[in-house]
Amino acid sequence: MNFKSRILLLQALFFVGLNLFAQTSGFKELDEWTEKWKTGQQTYFGYPVNQQSAMRDFYEWYLSAGMEVVNLNNAGDPMTDKPWPMSSHAFEREVIEYFTPLYGFDKDDVWGIVTHSGTDGNNHGIYFGANYLKNKTKLQPVVYVSDEAHYSNMRLAHLQNLEMRLIKSDAMGRMIPEELEKALDVTRPVLIVYAMGSTFKGAIDDMETLNAILDRHTEIPAVYRHVDAALFGGYLPFTEHRRMVSRKAMHFESIAISGHKFFGIDSPSGLFLCTRDVYDNQADFNVTYLNGNMRMINCSRDAVQPLKFWWLIQKVGIEGWTKQAANIMECTAYLKQRLDAIGWPAWNNKYSNTVFFRRPSEDIVNTYILAQGNDENFGGKLAHIVVMQHVTKEKIDQFISALQAEAGPAK
Ligand SMILES: *Cc1c(COP(=O)(O)O)cnc(C)c1O
Repeated sequence: MNFKSRILLLQALFFVGLNLFAQTSGFKELDEWTEKWKTGQQTYFGYPVNQQSAMRDFYEWYLSAGMEVVNLNNAGDPMTDKPWPMSSHAFEREVIEYFTPLYGFDKDDVWGIVTHSGTDGNNHGIYFGANYLKNKTKLQPVVYVSDEAHYSNMRLAHLQNLEMRLIKSDAMGRMIPEELEKALDVTRPVLIVYAMGSTFKGAIDDMETLNAILDRHTEIPAVYRHVDAALFGGYLPFTEHRRMVSRKAMHFESIAISGHKFFGIDSPSGLFLCTRDVYDNQADFNVTYLNGNMRMINCSRDAVQPLKFWWLIQKVGIEGWTKQAANIMECTAYLKQRLDAIGWPAWNNKYSNTVFFRRPSEDIVNTYILAQGNDENFGGKLAHIVVMQHVTKEKIDQFISALQAEAGPAK
């Protein structure tokens, strides 16, 4: 046996040992708690997380490399040429550069970070947007967001003490263009947040129509568009609908995406990208002891999430994500067809992997952890399924059988 195969054998034994060892923690409470994840996650249908995370070999590498004793921190700007020595900034920067063309940014006109979540990305979008507009116009902006957008946007406008106008959306969940126009204060800068995936119905605001309204009002002092694409920003770049998340087509200044939704990172994380012009219009926060200009909101930032992102880029990449995205779209159509076939009232927005439908019994809601909503336009009580990687046709069939058993034979 040569040296290389001996090393491989040792490595294999190490991982086998690790796996045997990993069966129990030695803490009863913890072991009982982990038991339920072996089965429970398979019917986790209501929330947009990918339960087929491909992080196992990442953790194996991390431990075998002894990285668990290195206390990394990505405080500071990953896009400068002076990365922080105790960081994974170099990998974070590569991640941002990888996604730059996928969201239609130019490589010499982009700034970005790996965030702690979609909400963290929206926080940066709204904060950067407000500062950009104030710096350009010396006026206070008004935030416009649809009433079906994710609540984080309302929370963040409140947190940042910004005036916000909630714009009514249509029955399917899209911001109504005429309502935006009516609400516009054309004497002040506009900070508009586009919902790319309204939370319950999975609607995408019609950015082209809304942009046209803003363009028509040339008297508006300045406009900033942030796209909240936490879920849809994951899969749309890998489908034929990629222009929906392209800055080139939709002319937004910034975008936020979650890492734990489509991409399958196993804990909260995300991406934030904006233009250089936005970055250059932020206030300087020169922090001498960090040797840098701290424009992002957080001081300490996670250094492991960028490594996980980087890892997935190598292991899954465009090819893998394209397959997953196609599969998700196919299974969404399949779920809708099956619901239609049994006469169960159900709706699905274009480009969306969310199907909402008449709410079934509490039993089914609990088994499948379905998210719940209410809308008189659709007969009252509703529930939805977000078709992620683990929601397969086979599991959809089981779900449909459960509905049928409840409803009796098809009409
Ligand atoms: C999930 C989601 C959020 C919140 O993102 P987190 O990563 O959970 O903080 C915001 N907006 C939209 C459209 C979402 O789908």
